[in-house]
Amino acid sequence: MQRDTLVFDLIRKELERQRHGIELIASENFTSLQVMQAMGNVMTNKYAEGYPGRRYYGGCEIVDQTEQLAIDRLKQIFNIEYANVQPHSGAQANAAVALAVLQPGDNILGLDLSMGGHLTHGSQVNYSGKLYNAHFYGVKREDGLVDYDMLEAKAREIKPKMIICGASAYSRDWDYARIRKVADEVGALVMADIAHPAGLIAKGLLNDPFDHCHIVTSTTHKTLRGPRGGIIMMRKDFENPFGLTDNKGNIRLMSNLLDLAVFPGIQGGPLEHVIAAKAVAFGEILSDEYTQYANQIVTNAQAMAKAFMEKDYQIISGGTDNHLMLIDLRNKNISGKKAEQILVQADITANKNMVPYDDKSAFVTSGIRFGVAAITTRGMKAEHMQFVVNAIDNVLMNADDAAVISTVKKQVNEFMSQFVLYPEMG
Ligand SMILES: *Cc1c(COP(=O)(O)O)cnc(C)c1O
Repeated sequence: MQRDTLVFDLIRKELERQRHGIELIASENFTSLQVMQAMGNVMTNKYAEGYPGRRYYGGCEIVDQTEQLAIDRLKQIFNIEYANVQPHSGAQANAAVALAVLQPGDNILGLDLSMGGHLTHGSQVNYSGKLYNAHFYGVKREDGLVDYDMLEAKAREIKPKMIICGASAYSRDWDYARIRKVADEVGALVMADIAHPAGLIAKGLLNDPFDHCHIVTSTTHKTLRGPRGGIIMMRKDFENPFGLTDNKGNIRLMSNLLDLAVFPGIQGGPLEHVIAAKAVAFGEILSDEYTQYANQIVTNAQAMAKAFMEKDYQIISGGTDNHLMLIDLRNKNISGKKAEQILVQADITANKNMVPYDDKSAFVTSGIRFGVAAITTRGMKAEHMQFVVNAIDNVLMNADDAAVISTVKKQVNEFMSQFVLYPEMG
């Protein structure tokens, strides 16, 4: 077969783009070289429907070992009894939990998408809002913090089968104990979706959701810095409280229901090459190097938030506990859409984001979200945050000045050349 230069040239161009720019999309990161090498391997050729030791295909002895390694390492990271490493993505992990726990039409309660929640927490355009009867809690207008009073009131009113906590654009920690308390009162399960802050939770830098939430899901590619994928976890297994049964009418442990929901519920063959890469990433997370990385994320996020606030940028909730921040740009007279567009011209990537109680649409938005997980992987320290914030401010304050933006772009490219990305790739 002739080498597909068209595609490989594009991959090379993407590497150069990643090298030259400042990556501030809060959900992105740079995996290690060995994570990528593990992902591009012969295990993509293998069918392995089922789970280690109980597969529907022969020849699974080796992939059984990589998958088991991924499971064991993940259990060690979070000190948990159950882990499923097969979900292809965070959205798939959430879909599997819903399939295991809920019946169509059941009430669920999640954080509103326009307040920082995720599509899979009940949005009308997502399966979670189409199949289930979704209700929402929000954040408070005055301080941008999760409105736990509202959450409790809604829970008592609608008696949801599942309460979902966790978010995509929320910079503060969660009170899992409080959510569990009302869940017990109304007979709901609690699912925490820690897709964003999982890496900080892994190192004890944020509250531990596992003691209070029945089921925890995450992506593996955000702060966890692994390959693109999803995971489902429980600290302790338990008999499902709703009397849900498998297709033979047997009452099952939640671990059985979750495994069945992933496969054969929503997926076929697992991506064993990606699971091998997950195993490598989980091994990295167990290292001291990653502990330092997680601590540096928090240091950098706080330094960045401080630098923004000194320039009169309005951070929702007034700061951050994790790796990200959401900025309301209305006092700067620029929309999130415009900010995203001009920043990318200066090789700074971030995403527009609705702010709580936004008066603009999801396509325009009043806000922008910044995260430091990726630039921290590049090697940036607290002292570099001032350069990043100055560059962003310079672009936003000169939004219609092509000359300024082009100057900032050159400064950004020059600045990023000190943080070498994948030197082994030449
Ligand atoms: C990113 C994210 C997901 C979805 O992850 P994908 O891998 O993109 O499907 C789910 N939940 C939350 C809270 C997220 O931030």
